[in-house]
This record gives sequence, structure tokens and C-alpha cells, in this order.
Amino acid sequence: MRFLIIFFLLFQSTLVNAFELNGEIIQGALIIGKEHPNNSVYINKQKIKLSENGIFVFGINFNQTGNIVIESSDKNNQITSKTYQIKKRQYKIQKIDGLHEKMVTPDQESLEIIKKENDLIKNAQLINSDFEFFLSGFSKPVDGVVTGVYGSQRILNGKPRSPHLGVDFAAPKGTEVKSPADGYVTLAEKGFYFTGGSIILDHGHGVSTIYAHLDEILLRKGDLIKKGQVIGKVGSTGRATGPHLHFGMNWFDVKIDPELILK
Ligand SMILES: [Zn+2]
Repeated sequence: MRFLIIFFLLFQSTLVNAFELNGEIIQGALIIGKEHPNNSVYINKQKIKLSENGIFVFGINFNQTGNIVIESSDKNNQITSKTYQIKKRQYKIQKIDGLHEKMVTPDQESLEIIKKENDLIKNAQLINSDFEFFLSGFSKPVDGVVTGVYGSQRILNGKPRSPHLGVDFAAPKGTEVKSPADGYVTLAEKGFYFTGGSIILDHGHGVSTIYAHLDEILLRKGDLIKKGQVIGKVGSTGRATGPHLHFGMNWFDVKIDPELILK
């Protein structure tokens, strides 16, 4: 009997030797995978978190090209490897005029403030928690019309600036913003230079979402938030020409296209 059980366990471990993926390997994608929890998973040689249920997740940046190599190694160091070619996307060009010049070309003093704020944002996005909130999927955080898409090259007051790596939903000032998934608040700040009233929620394994230009913030850093909970209200704080929600999604510092996830 004991022999049979051991045999079965061995048999099972060879059966689940190949990991499964959920999602297309395309720029801006967030891919969820499943593997035997005793194995180790590497994305382009970088070891990533594998939960006790065998869940892992990784993202593909907007400008990432070439291949993604996923390797899984079992307890006998037997390696299974698969290579995927990243599908490239075409991005739009978006021109925005009428911005205050200090929002396009900030002075030295403002640049120092912006750097400090960017560090706070980055540190929140680099948190690698054990939460698995991302597994529930993400609902649309606000009722609004999409006015800015992921990846678009930005020309602000005629000057080329960094690409837009989130999605903008236009909505009247005061419209409720609802959490698209359960999350843990890692940043809640009222007056950031570019992003204005800003929230970052951690959904686990490096997956986070950011909400910008908020008029009101209805939570605190350290709160646990439920999917559908009102977390803030739409505004036009920071670099904005009118009331809208900027909604971004990250896998650590990799920028994900929220529209690929909300679909
Ligand atoms: Zn935006």
C-alpha cells in the first residue's frame, strides 16, 4: 500500500511537470500560470514567486521584444523550458495642448519633488506580497469614456514626452472610483505633482494598480480593500486638462495594459 502511494505521488509529479499559462504573450500582457507548487519557476532567468497553490504571474512591458523563456525546475533539478515570442503592438500618438507649461517642463525645484514622489510610487510597486487577489480578475474602476490608451506616444504642448502607460477614463468630478479587485493600500497621497491625488493597491506577487488625479481619497495606507469598494472620487488634480481617472497596472516596474485585463 505504501509503495503504491509513493508510486502514485511520483507519477503525479511527472504528470504536472509542464506548467500551464493563461494569456497571450503580447506587449502589455499580464500572464497567470500554474505549476506544481514544489517546483521553481524562472522568467528569462529571473526566479518568481510560486504560491502554495502553484500559482505564478508575470508581466510583459510595453516595449519588450524578443522571447520570453519560462523554465520550471523540479526538486531533482529537472528543467522544463518553453520559449515564446513576444507579439509586438502598434501604439498611437496622442497630442495634448493647453497644459500649464510647468506640467510639461517643470523647474529644478519641482523636478526634485517629482523624483521623491516617483520613488514613493516605485517602492510601492516593487512590493512582492503573498496575496493572490489578482486571481479574481479586475473590473472597470469607474464609469467613464476612454480618452487615453496604453502605450501612446505623448506630445504635450508640442513637446515629445514619455509614453502613456495606463488608461484614462473621463468622468465628471466626484464620480465614484471602485476597487477593481481586493487589494492592500500601499500608497495614498493627496497632492503629487503629476498624478495629483494618488492611490496604489497591491494585489499580490508584484501586481499593483494605481489611480491618479483623484479629487478625494477614501482610504488610508495599510487598509485592506474589497472588490467594488469606493476608494476615491474622480478629479483633475496633478497634470490633467479635465476630470478623469488615470488607471494603471504594474507587475513590479513592468507596465501592464489595463484594457487587456479588463476585457
Ligand atoms: Zn493617464
